[in-house]
Amino acid sequence: MPHHYDPQNIFARILRGEIPNDTVLETEHTLAFRDIRPQTPQHVLVIPKGAYVCFDHFASEASADEIVDFHRTAAQVCAMLGISPADGGNGFRTVSNAGLDAVQEVPHYHMHILAGRPLGPMLSRRD
Ligand code: 5GP
Repeated sequence: MPHHYDPQNIFARILRGEIPNDTVLETEHTLAFRDIRPQTPQHVLVIPKGAYVCFDHFASEASADEIVDFHRTAAQVCAMLGISPADGGNGFRTVSNAGLDAVQEVPHYHMHILAGRPLGPMLSRRD
């Protein structure tokens, strides 16, 4: 089944300027802004400006320029926040949820950058 993009999703509305956001960094193809309900002291969302639903949609169909710009922007955000181990920071976690099992709330591809406290194990165990 092909990916279906809903142009009324909240991040599409942010990209159209219909809803304000707390921008950290903006480039030709990418926007990074603070999560409205931060789960860590630093919680930034990085999104492509193109209409992609989730990671595999973006990674398989975006142009090379978009893909490079997205990742370079995410890296620049890490540098701006001072969270990279390479800068003496305490580290961070990137997360990207896709679909039902991952409880993706907003159907526009986004990478969470989470930092500012110990983040614990990657997933809570459920036996
Ligand atoms: P998901 O569960 O889809 O991976 O994450 C969606 C994220 O978007 C959540 O962390 C949620 O707090 C954030 N979010 C939802 N609506 C808005 C909004 O209007 N503005 C901002 N900045 N973040 C939002």
